[in-house]
Amino acid sequence: MTSPYITETVLSVHHWNDTLFSFKTTRDPGLRFKTGQFVMIGLSINNKPLMRAYSIVSAPYEDHLEFYSIKVPDGPLTSRLQHLQVGDQLLVSRKPTGSLILDNLKPGKRLYLLSTGTGLAPFMSVIRDPEFYAAFDKIVLTHGVRVVSELGYHRLITEELPAHEFFGEEVRQQLIYYPTVTREPFIHQGRLTDLIEQGQLFKDIQLPELDPAQDRVMICGSPSMLKDLVAILEQRGFVEGTSNAPGDYVIERAFVEK
Ligand SMILES: Cc1cc2nc3c(=O)[nH]c(=O)nc-3n(C[C@H](O)[C@H](O)[C@H](O)COP(=O)(O)OP(=O)(O)OC[C@H]3O[C@@H](n4cnc5c(N)ncnc54)[C@H](O)[C@@H]3O)c2cc1C
Repeated sequence: MTSPYITETVLSVHHWNDTLFSFKTTRDPGLRFKTGQFVMIGLSINNKPLMRAYSIVSAPYEDHLEFYSIKVPDGPLTSRLQHLQVGDQLLVSRKPTGSLILDNLKPGKRLYLLSTGTGLAPFMSVIRDPEFYAAFDKIVLTHGVRVVSELGYHRLITEELPAHEFFGEEVRQQLIYYPTVTREPFIHQGRLTDLIEQGQLFKDIQLPELDPAQDRVMICGSPSMLKDLVAILEQRGFVEGTSNAPGDYVIERAFVEK
């Protein structure tokens, strides 16, 4: 019987701070996924797989996989995963899934990617996919965190992607990156929900307020952030999209409260 998991090898590990890290692994050529999807990953502990859902940070055309992870102090998986070293093995399920995909949205003019914490992960794949730049005039990536050191991938987004040899031009013309911090001074401060409700986000990026006639939204964050943002969107007439009926917005939990 084929194992439900592929065994990949860790190629590199990067620690952003005490609570966040990311890592790259090999990618089985048979593992196909869509931009924005997640997969189960994990470790074999006493010969038993310990698996958790993880969004795929890398783009579907890349020959490696990348993940962005929290370090939960007593977390069954991440208390171990944070010690990953180059050459270690990682189990990856064969069936990526998830709702943050282009097919679940109706065509629109602008795409908002609203994230908090590790909810940034699926959108790192989105902002590296030329198909999204072809589908929307503007892509607005927001990332809400508590402290500046939690702004993972900041330099990649602000420096490396705009200089990318194949889609740097699209990034420079179409991507608006809006990081915001709640517990330290920063260029943008406050919770995303407040920044949207008070209109500050739109003033800062010089775009009109959210409108279901033109805007599409993908959200990935904590369960409470999702609840608040969905309420704001529904109030404005946005309809959730599914694979059967594409809509104006889609959501994915960045984690589950236990
Ligand atoms: C669809 C989906 C996609 C996910 N994608 C990612 C991802 O890309 N990166 C990632 O780090 N995690 C992601 N998670 C969470 C992940 O599945 C695990 O919960 C996480 O790796 C911690 O595992 P654990 O066994 O150490 O602790 P768990 O027992 O799984 O979690 C313990 C507690 O830690 C908190 N927690 C867990 N994950 C997070 C998080 N990411 N941010 C803040 N608090 C958290 C929660 O309160 C949770 O109840 C995703 C979850 C879902 C449902």
